[in-house]
Amino acid sequence: MDDCIFCKIARGEIPSAKVYEDEYVLAFRDINPMAPTHVVIIPKRHVRNMNEIALLSEAERLAVLSACEKVAALEGVAESGYRVVSNCGPDADQSVQHLHFHVLGGAKLSVNLA
Ligand code: 5GP
Ligand code: ZN
Repeated sequence: MDDCIFCKIARGEIPSAKVYEDEYVLAFRDINPMAPTHVVIIPKRHVRNMNEIALLSEAERLAVLSACEKVAALEGVAESGYRVVSNCGPDADQSVQHLHFHVLGGAKLSVNLA
C-alpha cells in the first residue's frame, strides 16, 4: 500500500529501530512507547487487521506469531512477562490500518485490558 506508514517502514522508506526481521515479518520499536519494552510486529505484506488474517499465508501467520516469542526473548522479558496486543477497528482505537502486534513488557503492566 502506497500511503501506509507501516508498509513504508517495511520497505525502509521510513526509518525505524529494528528489533527483529525475517522473510515475512519486521519488528521495530514503537515511536511512542507505553512500556519499557514496546515493540511493534508487522507482517511485511499489507493486510488491514485481524479481520483479514486469512489473507496471509500459513507461513506468514506462523512467522508473525513466532516473532512475538522471539522479540520477547530478544528483549529479555520472556520470563518476567509481557503482553501481546492487536488493536482491531474503531472500538479498539486501531490507529494504523496495517495489522500489527504490540509486545509490551519490562515493567508490571496494568491489570486493565479494557
Ligand atoms: P495502534 O494504535 O494502531 O494499535 O498502534 C499503532 C502504533 O504505531 C502506535 O503505538 C504508534 O505509536 C505507532 N506508530 C505510529 N507511527 C509510527 C512510526 O512512524 N514509527 C514507529 N516506530 N511507530 C509508529
Ligand atoms: Zn501497510
